[in-house]
Amino acid sequence: MLLLIPGPVSTRPEVRAALAQDFAPWDTSFRPLYAAVRERVGVLAGAVAGTHAVLPLQGCGHFGIEAAIRSLVPASGKLLIPMTGSYAQRMARLARECGRTVSELPASDVRPVDPAEVARALANDAKPTHVGLVYSETSSGIVHDVAAIGEIVRAAGKRMIVDAVSAFGALPLDLAAQPEIDAAVFTANKCLEGVAGLAFIIARTDSLRAARGSAQSWSLDLDDIHEHAIRDGWGSFRFTPPAQVLAAFRTALHLHRAEGGQPARYARYRDNADVLYNGMQQIGLTPYLTRAAQGPIVVNIHAPDDEKWSLQGFVEALKRRGFVISNFYNTDRPSFRVGCIGAITPDDMRRFVGAAASALDEMGVRRRAPAA
Ligand SMILES: *Cc1c(COP(=O)(O)O)cnc(C)c1O
Repeated sequence: MLLLIPGPVSTRPEVRAALAQDFAPWDTSFRPLYAAVRERVGVLAGAVAGTHAVLPLQGCGHFGIEAAIRSLVPASGKLLIPMTGSYAQRMARLARECGRTVSELPASDVRPVDPAEVARALANDAKPTHVGLVYSETSSGIVHDVAAIGEIVRAAGKRMIVDAVSAFGALPLDLAAQPEIDAAVFTANKCLEGVAGLAFIIARTDSLRAARGSAQSWSLDLDDIHEHAIRDGWGSFRFTPPAQVLAAFRTALHLHRAEGGQPARYARYRDNADVLYNGMQQIGLTPYLTRAAQGPIVVNIHAPDDEKWSLQGFVEALKRRGFVISNFYNTDRPSFRVGCIGAITPDDMRRFVGAAASALDEMGVRRRAPAA
């Protein structure tokens, strides 16, 4: 069964095999493994030694985003969030639930955020201290321009928190060139193709120190995780780590490097998305986004306007053909979502297009254009 969902992704057998060993996390044979993983992801993000710290956290991406908000946005701060889709909504909810003030900047789910609109919002309201941006909005499939929006944020003298969960490893990120980014958040199980269980926050240590005490949570206090590393070493995990997940992630990082790093991973995912996009058109379906707006991570396809169509029926028919896609709608207008990330290739996408055509035929879905 191939997972065509935007995380957790299909993994390579080498990654799953690396889960098979048990570790004592504080043992000298585990500490270098962990320290090397931290160092490698820092290099991938363009982190600067002494300026940034790689701060892993047990759990999923939401935990990482909440930890970044708690640890970097003081209680008196305000977060401006372009509402790009459901992951921006999640960030807004996480911020509000920990008592932070949020200002929502309306955004579209068919076009990237216009940096000029962020500039206008910051010019009209002096209060936001931070901008929270979802780099690759996993609901729409749009990649937002972190560099251009970052420039606006920098010029306005504000700080930025980037949800790079479905971007990191495949889309470029250079923290050295973007000093306005206080934190970038990602997980082991999306474009880096590890298994789930670990979030990473790469944060500026000066900003962490400036916001010290604002987390109001020991578990999610990034400053405390940083202090722990300084005290006990970069191979030391605060609280029990998912040690097997880390070992599998090390293998995933080796494979990422062997493939050619971020540019190669981007190219494969782009090819996956292009094959899918063209294939869906060839079988009479309509992609949700224009080709220009379509990112390489997920492709949404308008639900066909046929009485025989049912998303759950389609998902089940695809499962019988060896593919799993998301079984819920993520966009303003109903569309089904196919992930292009993970250990999958353009050939897998070609097979998927064939499976989708055969599933629609079996269901009797003839009118494949979206509702007007
Ligand atoms: C997957 C994802 C997350 C985090 O999801 P978890 O289920 O908490 O790991 C956050 N943001 C984006 C953009 C994502 O794609």
